Amino acid sequence: MTTEPAAGALKRLHIKTYGCQMNVYDSERMADVLRPLGYAMSDGPEDADLVVLNTCHIREKAAEKVYSELGRLKELREERLAAGGERSTIVVAGCVAQAEGEQIMIRQPAVDLVVGPQAYHQLPELIARVARTRGERLSADFAPEDKFDALPAARGVEGPAAFLTVQEGCDKFCTFCVVPYTRGGEYSRPAEAIEAEARSLAEKGVREVTLLGQNVNAYEGGLANLIRRLAKVPGLDRIRYTTSHPRDMDEDLIAAHGEVDELMPYLHLPVQAGSDRILKAMNRGHSAEHYLRLIERIRAARPDIAISGDFIVGFPGERDSDFEATMTLVRETRYASAFSFKYSRRPGTPASAMPGQVAPEVADERLARLQALLGEQQQAFNEGLVGRTVPVLFEKLGRHAGQIIGRSPYLQSVHIEAPAGLIGQIAPVTIDGAGRNSLAGSAVLEAA
Ligand code: SAM
Ligand code: SF4
Repeated sequence: MTTEPAAGALKRLHIKTYGCQMNVYDSERMADVLRPLGYAMSDGPEDADLVVLNTCHIREKAAEKVYSELGRLKELREERLAAGGERSTIVVAGCVAQAEGEQIMIRQPAVDLVVGPQAYHQLPELIARVARTRGERLSADFAPEDKFDALPAARGVEGPAAFLTVQEGCDKFCTFCVVPYTRGGEYSRPAEAIEAEARSLAEKGVREVTLLGQNVNAYEGGLANLIRRLAKVPGLDRIRYTTSHPRDMDEDLIAAHGEVDELMPYLHLPVQAGSDRILKAMNRGHSAEHYLRLIERIRAARPDIAISGDFIVGFPGERDSDFEATMTLVRETRYASAFSFKYSRRPGTPASAMPGQVAPEVADERLARLQALLGEQQQAFNEGLVGRTVPVLFEKLGRHAGQIIGRSPYLQSVHIEAPAGLIGQIAPVTIDGAGRNSLAGSAVLEAA
């Protein structure tokens, strides 16, 4: 990520972000909090004085990547010192920091500071302490309200689409998941603070916000109310939210999809599995039928809505028949996009101690079949847009000269040959080609 350097910036910062959109948001806020100290973004870790790894603990692979990156950073630091440079500071932030704490420093002594997600507002002070006394560490026991109150109101903004955290944490305790342990219990930010942040983003040219939360639709006071409030913010044309839980999808939120023009026709509603036996073992608190009826009601409110989801295959005890039930649910739902994962055994979660752990080759085969089906559905959804004209918010330059990239209301990426001056604007585009991951458009009629 990049940011405007502070006047007289002398120090370079590199933040590497793993995992979910909430980490992307948090990384931006860390850059905001460090900017007044004179930190400007570096191009990579090689020339950075301060390197922050904002980590993800959700699956074993994500957590392990952090340790290999730390080994690389240690080598970079040694090369830098050997070349007569300054010693760089290495910080581990995010959910691995929260979950593993001091263990990280034991496993990789090159780490200077470990800081969990609720303590980012303390970063300047902690980094100053590290500079004075090498090896300072933090136990990350801060309340989320302290974090949001203490982060700077002014945000560095890149592009016309931004994330806005409205809710953090989770009380659901799905048996496979580390989030309730790494992010703590559910906390909703006050609507006034969220509206103020949305206004300030809109004043900086942001036209689309994605409201973030581990269980965003568990937002206290009702997510639909918050969406209606934000829809009135001048300049904010598009609102999205993620991630939702089927148990918190209330009537008001479903109705908002049919009533609020600014609310985009896209819904990420993870189900994880299509078998009631597995859903129960996962402690999801709903059945497959409940999910399918929800989708039906949402489509009745907003017929063109793009449905997205998350799936886990190879959960302990998953039989062939359970997996077939997932395939049936997918066929019935017809997804526009989805994320699917092989179950990862996370220490400390109830599922990690369950009998019937599925052999990796069985899980691999199921994942391949599921991904093939989801891929076909994604291609079919995208092809359904060919010949239609949709409003596109242009976000950035494309890889080829003369190309720009935007997003359709359905969150598809749209590539088009058009002037860069359109970036930041919404313009109707006629779609004339569809791949699995993007659309191609040919004509921009007029910008708004
Ligand atoms: N709160 C959201 C929900 O309930 O669906 C999900 C948040 S979680 C950060 C994102 C996704 O990671 C989950 O939907 C799930 O599919 C996946 N996930 C979580 N724990 C996992 C595990 N132990 N193994 C594999 N995938 C996992
Ligand atoms: Fe994890 Fe379940 Fe909470 Fe989602 S709802 S964050 S999967 S515990």
